[in-house]
Amino acid sequence: MSQILEEVLSANHAYIETFGNKGELAMPPRRRFAILTCMDARLDPAKFAGLVEGDAHVIRNAGGRASDDAIRSLVISYKLLGTQEWFVIHHTDCGMETFTNEVMRNLLASSLKTALLDDKGWHDVDLSSGAVEGEFIDWLTINDQAKSVCADIKRIRSHPLVPREISIYGYLYDVKTGKLIEVPEAKAIGQAYL
Ligand code: ZN
Repeated sequence: MSQILEEVLSANHAYIETFGNKGELAMPPRRRFAILTCMDARLDPAKFAGLVEGDAHVIRNAGGRASDDAIRSLVISYKLLGTQEWFVIHHTDCGMETFTNEVMRNLLASSLKTALLDDKGWHDVDLSSGAVEGEFIDWLTINDQAKSVCADIKRIRSHPLVPREISIYGYLYDVKTGKLIEVPEAKAIGQAYL
């Protein structure tokens, strides 16, 4: 068994020992809100936003971008499970700032193996296999964090399946301090309206 697999199963074993009555939690998030954020391993929304099981929806992808699939989840979050407030949280030092669509497509076209980042940018170290399928994916990279938060809130806000009464908040998480910093320009874009 891989070491990681062993560690995860062992951690789960310890978790169920203290699981208590969480099996009785209702499916709709008790605190009726959702967070869309990056998958970056340094971010733990349960900790930085004070969540426990049953509190909120957390939707994560690379960059915390408002992709079609993130919007799919948010619409379900409201329409079927009743969340009322949504957070879009991007963060400092995001990996999505380190490449462009073109860079990613070129890397994948020359190799599927893990690439390396150094002073000169990303490059492939193993050129044994590649595929051009990356051309068909928009990698939703980020140039400016505040702008990407605003762009994503704008996209969610103007989506025909998103009702106007939902408040959408835009924040940046600082990976150096753990602090949530409001993106001022996001406020007007995300506010609920009647
Ligand atoms: Zn990130």
